[in-house]
Formats: sequence, structure tokens, C-alpha cells
Amino acid sequence: MKYQPVIGLEVHAQLRTKSKIFCGCSASFGADPNTHTCPVCLGMPGVLPVLNKQVVEFALKLALATHCRIASQSVFARKNYFYPDLPKGYQISQYESPLASAGYLEIPLGEEITKRIGITRIHMEEDAGKLVHDETRPLSYVDFNRTGVPLLEIVSEPDMRSPEEAVAYLKELREILVYLEICDGNMEEGSFRCDANVSVRPLGQGELGTRTELKNMNSFRNVQRAISYEIQRQIGILEEGGKVIQETRLWDEHRQITFSMRGKEEAHDYRYFPDPDLVPVEIHEQWLEKLRQELPELPAAKRKRFVLQYGLRPYDAELLTSSRALADYFEACVKEFHDPRQVANWISGEVLGLLNRDGRSIQECPVQPQQLARMLGLLEQGSISRRIAQSLFEEMYMTGKTPEEVLMEKGWATVSDQGSLYSVIEEILREHPKEVEAFRQGKSKLLAFFMGQVMRKTQGQADPKLAQRLLEQKLKGE
Ligand SMILES: [Zn+2]
Repeated sequence: MKYQPVIGLEVHAQLRTKSKIFCGCSASFGADPNTHTCPVCLGMPGVLPVLNKQVVEFALKLALATHCRIASQSVFARKNYFYPDLPKGYQISQYESPLASAGYLEIPLGEEITKRIGITRIHMEEDAGKLVHDETRPLSYVDFNRTGVPLLEIVSEPDMRSPEEAVAYLKELREILVYLEICDGNMEEGSFRCDANVSVRPLGQGELGTRTELKNMNSFRNVQRAISYEIQRQIGILEEGGKVIQETRLWDEHRQITFSMRGKEEAHDYRYFPDPDLVPVEIHEQWLEKLRQELPELPAAKRKRFVLQYGLRPYDAELLTSSRALADYFEACVKEFHDPRQVANWISGEVLGLLNRDGRSIQECPVQPQQLARMLGLLEQGSISRRIAQSLFEEMYMTGKTPEEVLMEKGWATVSDQGSLYSVIEEILREHPKEVEAFRQGKSKLLAFFMGQVMRKTQGQADPKLAQRLLEQKLKGE
């Protein structure tokens, strides 16, 4: 029997605000434990949360970018559960009336094919703290720095049908968040984390199968592998006539399997109720309009434009729009050099090659777009060969110098003469097809004639030895 996987994703995105969602504590990552805390985020009695306006603005930007319906009034709720990293005994989240719902985003699936994935809801909530377990002793510590850091929870519809689609959705969502500059998208630091709901059903069946929830996947590769594993595991159970149990499973990266997270299956009765300390959030059309104006061009639109405006292949457009900074670098280059495809080739080859080698981002690229454009100009004029261009670019990258400076210093000017000599010779051969033919028939004395032409054209500036060697090569058709 053939089976169809059904996948829905829940993403938690940490927002790039300076302060936490309900207090003034710093929300930055990596400080000493418990240094970013105050009575509000430590859950002391008698304190009141105050909503950070920027959290709402960030959430609204994402809601607009993903075509969501935005509630004119939404409510914060308390999600009650007990866990040592949750000092209040509840997490402030949104439940029945979230900020945004019923949106979508388009994921690219191969050249020129896209698929629309529904977004069920987007809501705001606070993060919990972090437990640190001592490996050598039966002892655990708790760090409350993360408690109260603002998160968006983005819940998709179960619209994905393969691990590849799930990863494409996550990449697109992450790109949008990073383009909007509201989340740094760092999966290792946990600022972009995802849980997956996975089920399978016989192909053609309308009803959904029993799903499991996968957690603990901290890279795109792990998401892909965990979902693939889980699909195969569930199909295996069904093939043997068994039943899939609804449960939460964790991905074990070392063993490359998912395993049941026992003991927490029944913990889903959270007892939500509206938070009496926080008034409903009201969104006015004027505010939304202002934010709409501030939205940047989003990845999907930029990809399309790069294909149409610059004639790039979809693959190159996708690569060059993978970050706003990279897209800006490309466009700055194209302003100074007329051939966008050539620029795209150099960026995807030499530029990204060296940056990846050194673990640098495009913002850290020592070669400014204008310098790359100038170098491409020299290459196009034939002043330098392609081989020299590569060395030249690497030298510019290492030293931050301009192409002209490097050519002078390295003495590659003579080589650049070779480049122009080549074009002179080619021109002469084009102008004298009969003599070329005669030479190739064996009239070798004609070499002197060609040498004379070269000297005339270069006003005697050509290096005779070099010119003769190049001429012989060209005439022999090498
Ligand atoms: Zn605080």
C-alpha cells in the first residue's frame, strides 16, 4: 500500500527586542546565569507585567508578511503548568484569541513551482527559563535569563506532504523573519526552533492518521532526518497491522532515531484562562498601515524580481536573495557593471567560496561591490585574463586593496599587457584573413608581416618576444 505523510509545523521564533516581553530586563543571549532578571520575570508576588510595544509591532510585521487576518482585539492567557524553569507556575501566552490567524506563505519547490502552506495562527508569548544539569552529580541549576524573552509561536496547517516540503517551509519562514529583522534565525542558539506533527495515511484516504509530535531538532538537516525517520517508523507499524500511538517523541541526533518522551503524554491539560493582569491588545488600522509601509521587499518578491529584472536563473536568484545583505551586495555590483549574470557567477563562485572558507558573512567581505565591478570591467576589456582575475580577486579579498593597486604592486601589469596584446593580435588576424590562410598553408615568412602590424597598432609598445610567441600560438590555432 502507498502512504501519504501529513506534516504540520510549530515554530518558536525569539524576537530581537532589546528587553523582555513584560519587563525591562535585557533579552540578549549568552550572559552569566540569572543576571538578566527582576521581580517581574522571576514571578515575585505582587508585581505587574507591562507589555513591550515592540513585541506587538514585530508580531504584526510577520502577520502582514504572511497574509494573516489580524485580530483587532487579542487576549493574553495564562497557560498553567508546573516545571522548575517556570517561576510563576504559568506561562503568559495567547490561546482563544490570538493576534493573527488564517495566513499563508509560498514555498519554492524546484524551478518556478511554488506551493501555498497555510498558517493557522501566530501568537505572542514569553519563554521559560533553562535547566542546567550537572553531569557528574545529581544536581540541577536553573537560569532565568531567558524567562520572559519574547517569542512568536507560528503554527502551520498540516499542508506539507514530505520532509523536503517541511524544510522548504522552515527555510522560507526563517528567511522572512530575518528579512523583517525581527529574529536572528539562529537555530543553534535556539532563537528559531521547531516541533513537527507527523502522521501518515493510506494514499487517497481523507481522514488523518494518528500523529506524533517531534521535538529536539536543532538544524534543517535534523528536521529532515527526524521527519523521514518518523514517517518510515509509522508506515512500518501500520504495515504490520499495528496502531500509531499519539505521543511526543524526541530526535536523537547520535542514534538518528526518534524515541518516546515518556511521562509527559498526559501533561496537555494546561488549564488556560485570560490573564487578569493584562488588558486586551487593541490594533488600530492606522498602526497597521504604518507598519505595512515599513515592510521591506520580502524574499519571494525579490526572487521573482531578480529573475525578471536581471534575467537570472531561478537557482541563482534563490541563492542571491537568501539574505538581504547578499541581495544588496549583488545589486550594488550590478549598478556599476552591466552584466548581471556575470556578477551572479562571480558572487556565487569566488565571493561566496572565500567567505564560506573563512566562515564570514557577506557583510564582512573585504571586497566592496564597487571594487568587484571594477575588476569585472578589467576582465571584460581583456586587460586581464580570467586566471589573473581569480588571483587578483583573492588578493583584493586578502588585503582589501583596489584592483589597480594590486595590479601595480604585484607587477601583474605586464601580464595585463599580455591580455591587451591578445586582443590586438586577434583584431589583426580578423583584419587579414587571406594572410592568415596563406601562413597556415606554409608561407611562414608572413610572420614578419604580422609582427609589423602588431608594432604599428601598439605604437611599438609591445614586447617583441612575447608578441611573437602569442602570434605563433594564435596563427597555429592553439
Ligand atoms: Zn525582568
